[in-house]
Amino acid sequence: MFNQVIDALNVGIVIIDSKYSIVEWNRWMEIQSNIKKKAILGSIIFNHYPHLSSPSFLRSCKSVLNFGNYVFYSQKLHNYLFPFPAMGFHNNFFDFMQQSCTLTPIREDNGEINHIVITIQDVTESVYLERSLKIMTQQDSLTGIHNRRYLDKRLEEEMTHYKRKNRVFSILMIDIDNFKHVNDTYGHQFGDIILKEIASVSSSIIRGSDILARYGGEEFCIILPDTDKKGAYSFAERLRVLVEEQKQLYEKKENVTVTISIGIAETTKSIESPGELLSQADTALYTSKANGKNRVSVYDTDYQK
Ligand code: GH3
Ligand code: MG
Ligand code: MG
Repeated sequence: MFNQVIDALNVGIVIIDSKYSIVEWNRWMEIQSNIKKKAILGSIIFNHYPHLSSPSFLRSCKSVLNFGNYVFYSQKLHNYLFPFPAMGFHNNFFDFMQQSCTLTPIREDNGEINHIVITIQDVTESVYLERSLKIMTQQDSLTGIHNRRYLDKRLEEEMTHYKRKNRVFSILMIDIDNFKHVNDTYGHQFGDIILKEIASVSSSIIRGSDILARYGGEEFCIILPDTDKKGAYSFAERLRVLVEEQKQLYEKKENVTVTISIGIAETTKSIESPGELLSQADTALYTSKANGKNRVSVYDTDYQK
């Protein structure tokens, strides 16, 4: 009866003795491993899964056998203990089934520990959902770049870095010029293509540490860590020119030129919050718009290019 219960579980159960010989292999393990219980009982686990003879797994087994400890193999640290294929469509996202595993002792009546129970739980679905949720909360669905929520979080972190370690950074606020006109003339769908194009051009020229996000409708933000306003200005100019030179083929006939205006603010001692820095970048952006659009302005009246 005991064996039938073990076989009914939707969890892998393996029992090994102190010589690492397999004494139990439940139905779940048979299905996932494609190895029958009859074929594996009595053999050393490392003969089938050589990667388990690692110092870390051996140490875990010793700690269970010698001290009666319970060991948890978290998916976050190890991903899996047994390399089984991920089920169904998860196969497209994971090389192997993601597992949370435990190693627990079996005590004899006299208190001795001669066996370890290994449980293997398939957590691929929840890892997948967790990852999707993370993407959903941090990514802009239209352009695929970061969203405002993520930007706000990172801006807060950069501000903390600046205050603690005096690591200067700059922020660019970008707004598409006359975008309403583009939408009105060529349609909203074409407007969406432009938004994606600008996101793509921007991400192609940023460094790995830079943070690009869609801030709102047709506004983007870029955080440039370790960059002063002078560096930010030359980066912004490069981006402005690249966007201007990008020609959008509309219905394969017409060339549409889209331009952007940019405002830059650099962290200074007087800035207390991320909101203040954003507002300075916004003021600089307004200057670019007021001066005729398709230009870059820096929040600093004394600033010389
Ligand atoms: P300015 O040069 O002063 O920035 O003028 P503008 O026309 O770009 O500015 P305005 O704020 O008047 O218009 C912004 C437009 O952006 C209006 C809105 O329909 C469009 N927009 C916002 N989000 C999206 C979007 O997701 N897709 C598309 N296609 N258009 C969008
Ligand atoms: Mg706008
Ligand atoms: Mg605009």
